[in-house]
Amino acid sequence: MLEDYLIGAHVSAAGGAANAPINAKTIGANAFALFTKNQRRWQSKPLTTQEIELFKQHCQQVNIKPNAILPHDSYLINLGHPDTEQLQKSRLAFVDEMQRCQQLGLSLLNFHPGSHLRKISELDCLSRISDSINWALEQTEGVTAVIENTAGQGSNLGHSFEQLAQIIEQVEDKTRVGICIDTCHMFAAGYDISTLDAAKQSFDLFNQIVGFDYLKAMHLNDSKNPLASRVDRHASLGQGYIGQQGFEYIMSLDAVRHIPLILETVDPAIWPDEINWLRSLTKKAA
Ligand SMILES: [Zn+2]
Ligand SMILES: [Zn+2]
Repeated sequence: MLEDYLIGAHVSAAGGAANAPINAKTIGANAFALFTKNQRRWQSKPLTTQEIELFKQHCQQVNIKPNAILPHDSYLINLGHPDTEQLQKSRLAFVDEMQRCQQLGLSLLNFHPGSHLRKISELDCLSRISDSINWALEQTEGVTAVIENTAGQGSNLGHSFEQLAQIIEQVEDKTRVGICIDTCHMFAAGYDISTLDAAKQSFDLFNQIVGFDYLKAMHLNDSKNPLASRVDRHASLGQGYIGQQGFEYIMSLDAVRHIPLILETVDPAIWPDEINWLRSLTKKAA
């Protein structure tokens, strides 16, 4: 059924989180991502009761439920930071992000795992990330920590399925941790999804190493750079190095039903077309 697929984009929350569901509706989405605070600042005013109520009201109006909403945390947060003081700053900011989600009645929080900044080992950094998640989960309720795979730019970890599995392995409450696969990042990290066969192999590998049970969301982006470039540059669907077949394969997977599928593509003007195209692929797959 078409309603099984929750497809949308990372929409603007300018003027307040309550505007995001309206912006999602405008582009024909039944899912969306948003920042619940300014993503480039450490501090933000707490959400007011009024803002929270209005957000919930608008979500109800456009009939978008919490399981179709994927908030994204601030870009400043590094949960694997090598420096103890900086790590603590990131952890506090992350808990604040989780609490904001909880206040808004949301059940997922999407974040980039972290970077070792070439000061500590990969393993040490991955353990710090897991510890950060454990600490945040202890202080919150009902929100799942959704780790996004990265393109592997600089010293960003989480670009290999093994690293993602390693982070999950050390999280105590496995019911509240999951993965968001960004297709551009996956491709840039070296997992080919540019043909039906290649995409099948790459997703089978993900299932073996991490498991589809942990797949809680996806970012659907094409890539401006070739396979294994380790560069994070999104392109509109079908207009990058991944091309149409990769997305055809993805929309045929059972694992993508009932989870938010979010565009972060470069031309918001064509988001309605991209959403329609993805929906047309689900019909083909059915
Ligand atoms: Zn992404
Ligand atoms: Zn990206």
